[in-house]
Amino acid sequence: MGSHCDDSIVSSVKIPTIKFTKLFINGEFVDSISGKTFETIDPRTGDLIARIAEGDKEDIDLAVKAARGAFDHGSWPRLPGSERARIMMKFADLIDQNVEELAALDTIDAGKLFSMGKAVDIPQVAATLRYYAGAADKIHGDVLKMSREFHAYTLREPIGVVGHIIPWNYPSTMLLMKISPALAAGCTMVVKPAEQTPLSALYYAHLAKLAGIPNGVLNVVTGFGPTAGAAVSTHMDIDAVSFTGSPEVGRKVMKAAAESNLKVVSLELGGKSPLIIFDDADVDAAAQLALTGIVYNKGEICVASSRVYVQEGIYDEVVKKLVEKAKAWVVGDPFDPEVQQGPQVDKKQFERILTYIEHGKREGATLLTGGKPLGRKGYYIEPTIFTDFKEEMLIAKDEIFGPVMALAKFKTIEEAIARANNSRYGLAAGIVTKDLNVANTVSRSIRAGTIWINCYFAFDNDCPVGGYKMSGFGSDLGLEGLYKYLHVKSVVTPIYNTPW
Ligand code: NAD
Repeated sequence: MGSHCDDSIVSSVKIPTIKFTKLFINGEFVDSISGKTFETIDPRTGDLIARIAEGDKEDIDLAVKAARGAFDHGSWPRLPGSERARIMMKFADLIDQNVEELAALDTIDAGKLFSMGKAVDIPQVAATLRYYAGAADKIHGDVLKMSREFHAYTLREPIGVVGHIIPWNYPSTMLLMKISPALAAGCTMVVKPAEQTPLSALYYAHLAKLAGIPNGVLNVVTGFGPTAGAAVSTHMDIDAVSFTGSPEVGRKVMKAAAESNLKVVSLELGGKSPLIIFDDADVDAAAQLALTGIVYNKGEICVASSRVYVQEGIYDEVVKKLVEKAKAWVVGDPFDPEVQQGPQVDKKQFERILTYIEHGKREGATLLTGGKPLGRKGYYIEPTIFTDFKEEMLIAKDEIFGPVMALAKFKTIEEAIARANNSRYGLAAGIVTKDLNVANTVSRSIRAGTIWINCYFAFDNDCPVGGYKMSGFGSDLGLEGLYKYLHVKSVVTPIYNTPW
């Protein structure tokens, strides 16, 4: 197993100065009303990074009041789309100018690879802002052809005050994926970042203010889920809630929305995504795709290919390659440019993954490689591959959200489709084959929001992501991701003063 988990690498890293630790409400950084704070921890070491203001219901109330005022009376929803776009472009430029610091914040807070953050994640969030800035002045409805003598058209209007509840696995990507379309639509918002990863959200709030986003439009309240998060989903003055996180909490958010003001809900939830490798695949490339699909971002990615099905003709060869590659995969300090996998986000997640691995062993699956923690401190786990599992085992059914793969052999295309669909989730799926008919048949037969053929993790701002089944509903990204922040209004007027 490639491991760079020795203490010397960790201790030589320069941690960025933490500039923002308070709530961002109505354009100002403020303490929480209670004065309480909570710890944010560096998963590379388990050490404290900083104490962050702990927002609660009263702080959410203040943030909503600011957002409501900015929506009902402020300039943002009333600006021409091109003007909102100009400010959003400036926000994107400021992100570009602060790439290193933003990437470093997500590395110390979430254990993400610094090299990846700098080269991909942070530039990508600036691109997301620009994508939606480009749409801000193209938001319009349709002229309708009514069956009688009426002139009718639709308007698309901002949905109002939006609550965004964000998970910890992609603190920057998830935040910008939600706030960018909402800003373009002319909404105002309250963001509740995950308690594990509050640092970059506060930095983005600072950049938004510098860019000229008016006070009250973007508010960030750090704090815990059952308090600050629940206050968002139950709030009577929030018009829509956009949630990304676990199905358990998604269910609570939907219930709270139903029991409060029936706010509009969109849920991006978990996954247990299948990757199906057919006999005609290139063995080496397929094995690499399968490994990357489960170890990328240490498996803390909702679309991870956590179930891999390989056709019997190449199964043994793929297994051999996969194990070789997993053993060579370098786990260690995410600031080290040689490292391919950093630590899990926190102790709780680390222990949860190790418990799943123990379940897998106890339930009788075969551990092909990995299965152990790495290093003397921090939350590192070896890339882990199980085979000979049964569909009812926890490692085959549950989203582990770690570098743990369940690998199986299949005979026919029908069997592959049936097994791929045998999940309560439906977020993504991958297919590896040179046969176009096979690719087309399987992609139409799998109930999942994204299908990748001969690729994986191929995201783009123009390509919506969303779930089927218990992976949720309502897409992020693409124009679909914009429409969820817009109401459609029909306007009807008679052409003649005909009695009706
Ligand atoms: P989580 O559900 O524990 O927390 C997500 C957010 O909800 C956090 O901000 C948390 O504080 C908040 N929260 C917790 N309890 C709450 C409550 N009662 N009311 C309101 N908010 C509450 O999820 P997580 O552990 O942060 O993230 C991992 C999960 O997110 C995984 O299941 C993963 O698949 C999913 N995810 C999905 C996508 C997607 O696009 N579908 C993307 C990333 C992550």
